[in-house]
Amino acid sequence: MATTDRDYYELLGVGRQASEAEIKRAFRRLARELHPDVSDEPDAQERFREVVEAYEVLSKTETRELYDRYGHAGLRSGGFQAGHVDFGNLADLFSAFFGDDLLFGGRAGGGHARGADLAATVEIDLGEAAHGVTREIPFEAAVTCTRCGGDGAEPGSEITTCPSCNGSGRLQQVTRSVFGEFVRTQACPTCSGSGRKIEEPCTECRGAGRVVEERTLPVEIPAGIHHGQQIRLTGEGHAGLVGGAAGDVYVEVRIRPDERFVREGDDIYATVALTFTQAALGATLTVPTLDGEEELELPAGTQPGEIVVLRGRGMPILQRRGRGDQRILVNVLVPRHLSDEQRRLLREFDEHTDDRTYGKSEGLFDKLKSAFR
Ligand SMILES: [Zn+2]
Ligand SMILES: [Zn+2]
Repeated sequence: MATTDRDYYELLGVGRQASEAEIKRAFRRLARELHPDVSDEPDAQERFREVVEAYEVLSKTETRELYDRYGHAGLRSGGFQAGHVDFGNLADLFSAFFGDDLLFGGRAGGGHARGADLAATVEIDLGEAAHGVTREIPFEAAVTCTRCGGDGAEPGSEITTCPSCNGSGRLQQVTRSVFGEFVRTQACPTCSGSGRKIEEPCTECRGAGRVVEERTLPVEIPAGIHHGQQIRLTGEGHAGLVGGAAGDVYVEVRIRPDERFVREGDDIYATVALTFTQAALGATLTVPTLDGEEELELPAGTQPGEIVVLRGRGMPILQRRGRGDQRILVNVLVPRHLSDEQRRLLREFDEHTDDRTYGKSEGLFDKLKSAFR
């Protein structure tokens, strides 16, 4: 998913000293202009995302302070994930700003507009990502009001043509400048693009035609899913306008960091610690894997920095057969506190070593070089 490192103040077109109200105003203006359902600009969706992200950060004192002091890096270390804007939580904000016209797709005039998509998130752990899991995901979606069937009018009351737009749902605004004349078409503000005037609003939905409902859906998360990937639930989003199709739900999957493994693509990394005597004499150790545990046999003379590869023990490869590998970095523990007796034994041991004991330098430097090749 796209993230931006562009300056948030610049994105909103406000100064660094901008007040809360100024930020809100700037966001409102830009969101209206760039909303992908309204704007025909090819990059509107990307710019809209950036603007929403900037607003998410600058509208909250906590994140704004973090950003002012440390910039994007500060937000990331503070746990804010740029680009993972929760549009679901913004739904309230949008309806407060724009009425329902953006929340419900916004394309003016049709009267059958498709409902807007909505976003939800789910957090799973690495083991669940490795084996796949089904989760119940709660979210709030606008559904068609059952009292008025979605037209927003109290049953039995009259619906007439909107006098502002004569039923077209659109208004044209002509701007003249030195470059010529610009005609902008926008949704009629009187009827929010429906082209109709409701004489008596439905008592259940207050004329909106939809009501917000708390819903829960089971979502199958496939084995091998990556952090930040989305699962689309087709047709489960906000209801459309009068008979229009419902939008979709995009569930973003977040994978909690694991204490034992670090994931890199389809491979996972872990560490194992040997005492220096185990390393010298060889040892069998139990190491954690995604499937439980495994016995790991380490030969005599195992060196720190060696990587043992367990083939096919990594993450399943999404939508394909096979799995990545588990790579285990070997650490060797050197004693920190020795008794007199231990010290004596080690000195004695040292007296019995010769050139063959340690062999050639273990080539850590070569490993370092190959890591950058
Ligand atoms: Zn209703
Ligand atoms: Zn109108």
